[in-house]
Amino acid sequence: MLRIDDLWKSYGDEEVLRGVDLEVARGDVEVLVGPSGSGKSTLLRCLNRLTDVDSGQIYLDDMEVTAPDTNPNIVRQQIGMVFQDINLFAHLTARKNVTLGLRKVRDFSKAEARERADAELARVGLADQADSYPAQLSGGQKQRVGIARALAMDPEVMLFDEPTSALDPELSNEVLDVMSELVAEGMTMVVVTHEMRFARGGATGITFLAEGEIVERGPPDQLFENPTHERTVQFFQSIRHD
Ligand code: ADP
Ligand code: MG
Repeated sequence: MLRIDDLWKSYGDEEVLRGVDLEVARGDVEVLVGPSGSGKSTLLRCLNRLTDVDSGQIYLDDMEVTAPDTNPNIVRQQIGMVFQDINLFAHLTARKNVTLGLRKVRDFSKAEARERADAELARVGLADQADSYPAQLSGGQKQRVGIARALAMDPEVMLFDEPTSALDPELSNEVLDVMSELVAEGMTMVVVTHEMRFARGGATGITFLAEGEIVERGPPDQLFENPTHERTVQFFQSIRHD
């Protein structure tokens, strides 16, 4: 469903992605791990057309995401993204944060958008917070509004970039619970996270990225129990001591 072919991306002299190939099937949950600076966020940003690639292709089914004539708004509707930094509009309620894209990109009427927004907020356990402003919400609640906002667009794929790394453990759990529900619903997901409990429980595949290259990829059991590369072993040891 999602296919990445030989993706290269540099910033100035720095090669951030060096020939990344990856395929994610419908319903799969690919967890992307790797040291800071290895290119994980850049890869997600390329998938979502927030960053242009230097060479290589990304396909979502028949749509070439990377083609210059592909509309980035269509890409972002079909590939939803949740960021580490919780980027809600501070002057808008939770509901308005969710309806905005529906009104602008999907052309929903006001009433339709409101109905959809409330349904998505309920889906992430925030039915009672629709009228709250971001400042009145906890970090975990804000992150869940971000998830509701992406889900409202009815995406084919959801990308998560360290959605819990700015949160305290108990707030992380409420976000991870929502993500686990999406896994159970069969959502196709690419998740950058160091939450290994989520990876073990939810991932169909783990990809270990280092210095812009995929070092190793496999099912969670294989990567955790029998990694074949020394770098993978070292990486998992390093995050277990976090
Ligand atoms: P990760 O998410 O794995 O920590 P990133 O994809 O954020 O890694 O970054 C990979 C490398 O690319 C880093 O060295 C970072 O400094 C660089 N980089 C990322 N975004 C930009 C940018 N917009 N301009 C210049 N360099 C960038
Ligand atoms: Mg990152």
